[in-house]
Amino acid sequence: MALRFDQRVAIVTGAGNGLGRSHALLLGSLGAKVVVNDLGGGAHGDGKSSTAADAVVAEIIAAGGEAVANYDSVEHGERIVQTALDAFGTVDIVINNAGILRDVSFHKMTQADWDLILKVHLTGSMSVSHAAWPIMRDKGYGRIIMTTSAAGLYGNFGQANYCAAKLGLAGLANCLAEEGRSKGIQVNTIAPIAASRLTETIMPPELLANLKPEHVSPLVAWLCHEDCEQTKGIFEVGAGYISQLRWERTQGQSFPLGKNFSVDDVANKWNTIGDFTNAGHPATVNDSFAPILHNINNPRLGG
Ligand code: NAD
Repeated sequence: MALRFDQRVAIVTGAGNGLGRSHALLLGSLGAKVVVNDLGGGAHGDGKSSTAADAVVAEIIAAGGEAVANYDSVEHGERIVQTALDAFGTVDIVINNAGILRDVSFHKMTQADWDLILKVHLTGSMSVSHAAWPIMRDKGYGRIIMTTSAAGLYGNFGQANYCAAKLGLAGLANCLAEEGRSKGIQVNTIAPIAASRLTETIMPPELLANLKPEHVSPLVAWLCHEDCEQTKGIFEVGAGYISQLRWERTQGQSFPLGKNFSVDDVANKWNTIGDFTNAGHPATVNDSFAPILHNINNPRLGG
C-alpha cells in the first residue's frame, strides 16, 4: 500500500516552520499540490516575512513536488484559497495549523492578548475553512484538519486565551463534521506535541529531540486521504504515539419530575453524579439529550 495525493490540492497554514512545514513537505512528497501559507512573523504574532514560506516551497519543488507560497495572515482565508484556485484550480484539503502564543496568567492578560490569539487560531481556522467550504461542497469532497492542543482540551496555567481558542477549534470541527457529513467533507482535530519554536523554550532539549514534527504528519496525511472515512475525531499525537479521544458521561442521577428537589438532594447524590462506573460515551446532541428525555418520559425515576 502506498497512499498518495496525486491531483489533490492542499492548503497548509503556518507551513513555514514546525508542524505545518512537516505536513506540507510530506503531502508534497506524496504528490499533492501544496499551498504553503505563512505570514512569516514571530512566535508572539509580531512581524511579517515571505522567507519561511518561500523556503518550504523551494524544498518541495527541489524534491520533485509542486507548491506555491502565500504570505497572508489566516484571518484572510479567501486570499489563501484564491492562491490555491489561481495556481491549481481547486482545493481538496485544508490543514489549519498556523499559530502563535501570548502566554500570560489570566489576571495579567490584556484584551489585546485575548483578541490576537482568538483571531489567529479560531477566526483564522474558520476563515480559511469558510473560504474553502463552498468549493468542497460543490465537488462533494473535502478534508479539513483543525489543530487543537492538550492545553485547550485539559486546561493549562497561563494560557487562558490559547486554551479558549484551541477548545473552540474542537467545537468548530465538531460542527463542520456534522454539516459536511452529507457533502463528502470530513473534519478532524489533532492535539499534537512536537519540538518547534513554540515549545523549544518550555521543554528540555533531550525531550525535544524525540518530539519531531515528522512524527505528527503521517496521522494528518491519513486523515486527509480519500481512503480515510474518519470524521469528527480528536486525536492526540506525538513522538510516535497516536490515540483518539471521546467524551465520557456518568450514568447520572435522576430526580423525580413534579417534585421539587433541593440543594441537599444534589449534595446527597454528588458521588453518584460523579461516578464514572459504567460510563457512557455520548457523541451527538441527541445522545446528550437522551437521558434527559428518558427522565421526562419516566417522571417517577429516582423517586
Ligand atoms: P511554529 O511557530 O513552528 O509554526 C507556526 C507557524 O505559523 C509559523 O511559521 C508562523 O509564522 C505561522 N503563523 C503564525 N501566525 C500566522 C498567521 N496569522 N497567518 C499565517 N501564518 C501564521 O509552531 P508549531 O509548534 O509548529 O505550531 C503549529 C500549530 O500546532 C499551532 O497551531 C500550535 O498552537 C499547535 N500546537 C503545537 C504544539 C507543539 O508541541 N509544537 C502543541 C500543541 C499545539
